[in-house]
Amino acid sequence: MDIVRLLPDSVANQIAAGEVIQRPASCLKELVENSLDAGATFVQIIVRDAGRTLLQVVDNGQGMSETDARMAFERHATSKISNAADLFALRTMGFRGEALASICAVANVEMQTRREEDELGTLVEISGSQIIRQEPVQCAKGTNMRVKNLFFNVPARRRFLKTDQTEMRNIMQEFYRIVLVNPDVRFTLTHNDEILCDLKAGTDKQRIEAVFGKSTRNLYSKQLVDILSCNELVNIHGFVGTPESASRNPQQYFFVNRRFMRHSYFHKAVMTAYQGLLHNDTNPSYFIYFDIAPEAIDVNIHPTKTEIKFADEQLIFPILLATVREALGKFNIVPSIDFDTSGKIEMPLPKRDAVIPTASDFLKHNTAFNPFHSPSDTNNDWHKDTVDSHWQTLYQPVSDTKQETLFGSDNKEEICAAPYQMAGKYIVQPTRQGLLFIDQHRAHAILLYDQCLKRLQEHNGEVQQLLFPEIWDVGVEDRPLVESLLDYFHDLGFVLSRLTKGSYNVTGVPVLLTNQSALLTLQQLLDSMREMGETARDERERHIAWTMAESAALPYGKSLTEDEMNMIVARFLQHDNARLTPSGKKAAVLFTGEMINNLF
Ligand code: ADP
Ligand code: MG
Repeated sequence: MDIVRLLPDSVANQIAAGEVIQRPASCLKELVENSLDAGATFVQIIVRDAGRTLLQVVDNGQGMSETDARMAFERHATSKISNAADLFALRTMGFRGEALASICAVANVEMQTRREEDELGTLVEISGSQIIRQEPVQCAKGTNMRVKNLFFNVPARRRFLKTDQTEMRNIMQEFYRIVLVNPDVRFTLTHNDEILCDLKAGTDKQRIEAVFGKSTRNLYSKQLVDILSCNELVNIHGFVGTPESASRNPQQYFFVNRRFMRHSYFHKAVMTAYQGLLHNDTNPSYFIYFDIAPEAIDVNIHPTKTEIKFADEQLIFPILLATVREALGKFNIVPSIDFDTSGKIEMPLPKRDAVIPTASDFLKHNTAFNPFHSPSDTNNDWHKDTVDSHWQTLYQPVSDTKQETLFGSDNKEEICAAPYQMAGKYIVQPTRQGLLFIDQHRAHAILLYDQCLKRLQEHNGEVQQLLFPEIWDVGVEDRPLVESLLDYFHDLGFVLSRLTKGSYNVTGVPVLLTNQSALLTLQQLLDSMREMGETARDERERHIAWTMAESAALPYGKSLTEDEMNMIVARFLQHDNARLTPSGKKAAVLFTGEMINNLF
């Protein structure tokens, strides 16, 4: 008996669906891409229960004829390519003719569609690949696709779906990937009757700002640098984040011919351009758009179509690297973001307990201060209370355990010359024992850390009022997290009041945040807590304190006067535990005489 037979279409489609439609987000992506391929200029997306019960996409595109409306749900039915050669000259998002066939195999689909030239449109209802009804209908020009009860007939798939929050996050991710590269199309997104996004048509940059700048409005306008490179091979344009705006949770997007892509090799090119410019563990955001002849890329290599092969990768790598590097170089000539204090009122600095200098202290501190004189010589406030206690043997060398103390009881003798700054990054302090290299950013962060932690534990953030309040808009997916962090923000010294859901008015910031954008810091706090997940309160406090300290600390590249360096060195050497950051990174290294001898 012969046993090989063809599978019924409905089964074949269900199997295919496993590849194309893994979750609500992938279904939504296919629907929206179809709308864009149909030339829509306005796409409305309506989601219920993170897409489990409803995913609806309404567009004003070209619509379909009565026959096409039926055909569209057949497997390998597409209007976008007709022969193999077309595969190498794709200008549409879709081309496989698989999406609708897959979707209707695993959901209840109801579609209404009408072309401009037709008086009546067509309604098609189809469920588990079976046509339920097809009839003429009065409807607007374009296509209205309702996908209900996704995976109703594939219980395993349904069970496999994550929490609504996670599925919604996936939906937002797909949404961003599409809207960022279609700024000329208006999009709205509604979830459970709440309008999450209403993005007007505009330029690339306006779209980026509307999507991400919402949460960091000022950040994005100031902290994206334009890149541009045009040649015969490829046109590259877009924006890269300044090194200062790098974060642990950057937004990194490549697009080619209006399609999102991942590209680890090009990612490397971008990262190479940032070499030496980034703080630890931070990465830059970028939005980079490639335009290239369709035949020079192959989008057909992966079913979900995010990995894209370029014929001339090797040639494009150096072009991309040079383009990003040049843009960053140009930007560095204008060091406007370091200490932009505009819009803030200087409140009187707190007296005793704010002993840690902020960057602004450096700018206005008492120039008569000299750490080598006894403290009574100086009337510098922050310094007074601690320095006169003693200069103790607090600083331990990083690795050399034999050398028990770095500074003897009479420390005045130990520092033997003025410090100087090296490479915009290290304070080099000559001492009797050798040369002490202090990492300016890490050292300052360590000093600020204690203060931040104290604020959190004692719930008494020192506030500096903002002359011009700033609005902090938070993405939907982060709203619960922000709400859970409001107490901490308050303890640090932020004054936030809720305007609407996900939108906060920031009227005060922590005193020690004089020179850093408040929104950027809030965003950094949010990013680092998102990564951290659920933990005990004291662990959270430490984490928040460190993130805050790092955000407020002197950046690399900031040049320091001798007085400023003296101040850091003095405070740093007094600190009990200054050798390492909480994450275990060295903040200072001593080159001893012995080590130097060994080099000779
Ligand atoms: P593909 O997009 O790969 O062609 P799909 O299964 O996604 O395959 O869609 C099949 C066909 O249905 C498309 O080629 C297109 O002709 C038509 N179609 C799908 N969605 C729309 C829409 N929103 N507006 C107009 N036509 C559409
Ligand atoms: Mg499609």
